[in-house]
Amino acid sequence: MSEALRDKAAALFAERFGEAAEGTVFAPGRVNLIGEHVDYNDGLVLPMPVREGTAIAWSRTEGGDIEAVAADFGEEDRFDAATPARPESVGWTSYVRGMVAEAGIPAGGLRIVITGDLPRGSGLSSSASLCIATGRALAAAAGTDADPVALAKAAQRTEHGWAGVACGIMDQMAVAAGQPGHAMLLDCRDLSYTLVPVPEGWSVAVADSGVTRGLVDGEYNARRAQCENAARALGVESLRDATMEALDAANLPHLEAMRAAHVISEIARTAAAADALRSGDLERFGSLLAEGHISLRDQFEVSVPAVDALVERLQEAIGVQGGARMTGAGFGGSVVTVMARDALERVTAEMGETLRQAF
Ligand code: ADP
Ligand code: MG
Repeated sequence: MSEALRDKAAALFAERFGEAAEGTVFAPGRVNLIGEHVDYNDGLVLPMPVREGTAIAWSRTEGGDIEAVAADFGEEDRFDAATPARPESVGWTSYVRGMVAEAGIPAGGLRIVITGDLPRGSGLSSSASLCIATGRALAAAAGTDADPVALAKAAQRTEHGWAGVACGIMDQMAVAAGQPGHAMLLDCRDLSYTLVPVPEGWSVAVADSGVTRGLVDGEYNARRAQCENAARALGVESLRDATMEALDAANLPHLEAMRAAHVISEIARTAAAADALRSGDLERFGSLLAEGHISLRDQFEVSVPAVDALVERLQEAIGVQGGARMTGAGFGGSVVTVMARDALERVTAEMGETLRQAF
């Protein structure tokens, strides 16, 4: 998949600029298996890269301008590599300019052509994919190796400062440092991680609910604030340090208690899911996904009925050997499923829907 997309970017580059690109780079999207809304609570998450992503064909040029082409939109941008200015409104060029400003990689004159095959805004992190691909193009053009953690941090600063999204660092780390076929157990407190191979006989697939997120930013920021308030009331730096016992003993306002209960239990579920992955226990992994979904639906209240219905149908089709849950920030987006590889065809047929397979 990534090879074909790089070839496509190279072809689009040749078409636009009338010469071959010097090189191409790729960065995948990601799906989070479990550990939702815990990255900004210093928690544990378990994302993995998907097949689709963003490819960029690049060539150095004389002069100091960066000419960027978003081939999928038929749009172009041109700016001074030394002093990228914030665009008037947030769009694809915010991510490109942001990475040029934030990556700490000296950039001179450059032509880049961007193309991607991720659905945008459906929870697979096309924006992190674009940021990391841009960082990789800058590094390749400068003839340096980009440190994955440094790129991930630059991409997070780009989301915060250039796109106005107060996200955690999970997406950027999974995209920058993930490996195909491996889930990443990432500790969002110190960014330490281990790559856990997904067992041979398992299949990870993603279903798109078709519900695009609307008005999420306000809800997202409200959840963050509720978590911060809960941590403060419990006397801990973040909910990572809170326990169910302390929560039960404390007299938190109802909403904050529910949000904290989700975060505390979700962090424990993520650690348990990593163990189930290591030991190849698909049934256990599936029940953790089911519990995680219920917690996101009832305690964190970030699901929507269409997604709940899709999760239920998928869980029924999959049975006990695996499971399904909403993935991403919520309010629509995608559902992630894990099942036996030899069940995928049957489940797809029963659902009458093509599931997008992760690596
Ligand atoms: P997601 O959940 O997919 O990350 P976001 O809204 O955070 O959703 O990011 C989507 C935005 O990222 C798009 O609106 C666009 O600005 C940018 N983007 C993603 N992929 C591409 C691409 N292939 N070409 C140009 N811009 C892209
Ligand atoms: Mg995004």
